[in-house]
Amino acid sequence: MSELAIFGGSKAVTKDPGDIFTWPIITKEDEDAIIKVLHDRSMSGTDLTMEFEEKYAQWQGSKYAVGYTNGTMAVLAAMFAVGVGNGDEVICPSVTYWASILSAYSLGATPVFADIEPHSLCIDPNDIERCISERTKAIIVIHYLGHPANMDGIMKVAKKHNIKVIEDTSHAQGGFYKGEKLGTFGDVNATSLMSGKSFATGEAGMLTTNDLVIYEKALASAHYERFDDRVTTPEINRYKGLPLLGMKGRVNQFSSAIGLVQIKYYDERIKEIRKAMNYFWDLLEGVPGLQAHRVDEKEGSNMAGWYAAAGLYKPEELGGLSVTRFCQAVNAEGVGCSPGVNNPLHTHSIFQTADLYNQGKPTRIANASRDVRKLDLELPQCKIANSRSYGIPWFKHYRPEIIQEYAEAYKKVALNYKELLKDDPGNSDDMGMGRWYFYSAPADSKES
Ligand SMILES: *Cc1c(COP(=O)(O)O)cnc(C)c1O
Repeated sequence: MSELAIFGGSKAVTKDPGDIFTWPIITKEDEDAIIKVLHDRSMSGTDLTMEFEEKYAQWQGSKYAVGYTNGTMAVLAAMFAVGVGNGDEVICPSVTYWASILSAYSLGATPVFADIEPHSLCIDPNDIERCISERTKAIIVIHYLGHPANMDGIMKVAKKHNIKVIEDTSHAQGGFYKGEKLGTFGDVNATSLMSGKSFATGEAGMLTTNDLVIYEKALASAHYERFDDRVTTPEINRYKGLPLLGMKGRVNQFSSAIGLVQIKYYDERIKEIRKAMNYFWDLLEGVPGLQAHRVDEKEGSNMAGWYAAAGLYKPEELGGLSVTRFCQAVNAEGVGCSPGVNNPLHTHSIFQTADLYNQGKPTRIANASRDVRKLDLELPQCKIANSRSYGIPWFKHYRPEIIQEYAEAYKKVALNYKELLKDDPGNSDDMGMGRWYFYSAPADSKES
């Protein structure tokens, strides 16, 4: 009789997880903050949002902050504010959430995809030059699933070619790279504060920068009622009163009110997440086939709030066992575990064939001076990322007896991999390899 639950053995996970996965942490203070906005009827006001912006800027260690309806809008405003426009190219890793880059289309710009590093799953600085052309205006860097990107390498290439750097910290608010806060390396930082992220306020986004012109352009892009003589740059001020992007980006103040409460406890709460997650990985140290997606904190870097935690998979150490089969067996042990991370964006038809603005050719090439789709052929690490990664539990509390059971589930499956080889169907898309997004609303989420 096998030990593995998939063959009838007993499950590794038996204890009630309690609130170990519950996020965000909501207290009476959050409730009171919401009720106050409600009674003040200030949902569409801006007082709390501006207070939150000030606190966020301080906490981020940046001079300026602007709030938005959501992170997607913050990324778009960041691109616009650094000058991305018609015919420009923007470099972004192919493995990320679509909002990191898709809105470049609406500026008439063209997304160019770079490869990722296999250990960090973040953009590979050594693949950036291959993607650069005369028209490259910006690089978007994502600190993917909390892992800091290689900022030394990225900033070096960007400086050499005089290209703007936009950090997307949607997965890594409050994280560090070599002693410095993520979101302070590039020209501008955009982040999502929606409820599924580690910094969760509801639907909102934030942009931060040290550059006055970028700040003012970002504010003017979607905050018409704040776009007055407070915006001092003459070339921007002359259009005051109407939003430069033709869109409205105001934050619903329910979110700002929650943000003002959450920011007080955020650093302490993500510290506990990291303690729990590092403990999980310490338990799996040396297990064949499994590799942590994390950094060594001794170097002054960390995994922020460890958003959408994942593990790296080495099938060559497990007789070639597919990650799909591996995850099936882990699931049987009582853990919600799915193969892959985000699907590489370049594989979606919206980046290949779709003609979204009736230009008579695919939007991806309609404004570009070259067929950038050809560059998609050389993204080897993006192409295999889903077959070499899997979800792991995202613990919010350090509770060793519970974490041990989950670690045991992964360990047990990896150590007994030989029994799984004979029924291995191999990796296939119809078994759900990777996905376009991670979030599911709490009511229908089956968070491991
Ligand atoms: C969630 C996310 C965004 C967009 O944020 P929303 O608030 O959902 O609009 C942008 N970039 C990344 C990497 C994200 O994960």
